[in-house]
Amino acid sequence: MRLVLLFTFFLSANGFDFIVENLKKYVNHDADPCDDFYRHACPLDVGIPRDLVFLGFQDILAKNSLKNPRAWDKFSVKKDIFERPRNETFNDKIEELYLHLCENEGNTTLMLKHLEPILFNPAECRGRFCLAYIRDDPNCKRAAKHLNSKLSRDMALYLSESLIEYHNQFFEFVTFIQILNAILDIDVRDGIHLVEEYLEDMKKIAIEWVQKTPWAINNEVSKSIKSLIEQIYLFDNYGENLRNSIDLFIKIEKAYTDCKAQYNDSKKAVELCFLIVSQDPKLKIDVETLSFSDANAYYGLPSIYMGFAYYYVAQFTEAVSAKIGFSGGCVGHEFGHGLIKSTSADDLTYFSNNSRNCIQNQYNSTCKEFVEQSCDTYDKQVDENGADIIGLQLAYELLERHCKDDLKTIYKPLNVTHQQLFFYATAVSYCQGKRSHTITRMDGTLDSHASANIRVNAMISQHPGFKDAFQCSKESRMIKSAVDQCIIYGEHAPQTRKH
Ligand SMILES: [Zn+2]
Repeated sequence: MRLVLLFTFFLSANGFDFIVENLKKYVNHDADPCDDFYRHACPLDVGIPRDLVFLGFQDILAKNSLKNPRAWDKFSVKKDIFERPRNETFNDKIEELYLHLCENEGNTTLMLKHLEPILFNPAECRGRFCLAYIRDDPNCKRAAKHLNSKLSRDMALYLSESLIEYHNQFFEFVTFIQILNAILDIDVRDGIHLVEEYLEDMKKIAIEWVQKTPWAINNEVSKSIKSLIEQIYLFDNYGENLRNSIDLFIKIEKAYTDCKAQYNDSKKAVELCFLIVSQDPKLKIDVETLSFSDANAYYGLPSIYMGFAYYYVAQFTEAVSAKIGFSGGCVGHEFGHGLIKSTSADDLTYFSNNSRNCIQNQYNSTCKEFVEQSCDTYDKQVDENGADIIGLQLAYELLERHCKDDLKTIYKPLNVTHQQLFFYATAVSYCQGKRSHTITRMDGTLDSHASANIRVNAMISQHPGFKDAFQCSKESRMIKSAVDQCIIYGEHAPQTRKH
């Protein structure tokens, strides 16, 4: 008894059960889970934020930053950049700074020298690549206006855009450091180890499946798939990541404050100094190296990067079934990317066409049944859709191995079985409180992910464990919209012979 009490205290002191708290708050008990499982677990119009996990964990990170303030929270580059209005045009800002310096005996020579390499990238200061003559005009207003006009529309637009880009990267960078700190402060290292164990178990399961897979045997690719699987691992070198990131942050701060000091720390120099920092190749923020975010995950052979949320849940959620549904489902999905071939650039040398069709048929069918605002299934989604299906299958297999005798046992805090809780936790990990629609990217192209409600309903409806957990009838919408389970790997996978 004492042990249980201690354990409860430990949980509440360090973290909370994200899955239980949200399910208690939001599940719509009046809706039949076999009708539209996603909206039963994650209903509309009950106050769920547009992205439950992302926003939930932003909150946890912000609280951690307040509780454990860092020296870099006070860096002036962070304060200035975060407060910087993003819609002002760059050349007006430059005009304003020049005028200010000129009228207050500031260093206009330095300012022009700073601008030359950015505007013209000249070998030497000569002719039209040189701005020094401007400072010889004693009329500050006229000289400032002239400088403004030297920045062509295209150049000003280009610089404004590159500043916006750097601004966004910088924002991501600071969030990244916040997460790294939270990983150490809240200490989710046990959660990381647990997810690592899940991945290692899944790799073993996948290898067992691959070795029995008819299409892999028939096309002589079992061995190559196995050797790809063996390379995959979970990135966990956060200490080094944090050190490198803080090093870069200090360099950025130094370059920025040095620059501003040259302009007497004037607020008007923010834009120019920020531009100088953003153009320095040594201070480049490589977004690719910001290996994970709070509620995201990423696969690039051989590494899997997972966000803070998944480690937090693996550590602080009590029920194993919920941990596997949420964190196991995520690592399964990322690992699943390595087991799907959708384009010739993917790492697998061969993949079964029948499996590819099966995956797309499922998403098509779910799309038709559960469309909210809009829904489309297209070829570009095969990779994500396939990773969803394989990921869930791997996670469920793990559930069966970890909770074999407890699948039908009731988990009291929620009054659901562990088998049911696994699927609820899957729904929580994709829960969005807004009507779903086809996702388009900033550049107008279609996103490679299906909408969250389609993803969840598609992958779970075709899984026999779901039907069993909720005793769904054949006529229910979930089961009606399910195609025969897509068994991609294993002895019942398609034959897909060589031809
Ligand atoms: Zn993915």
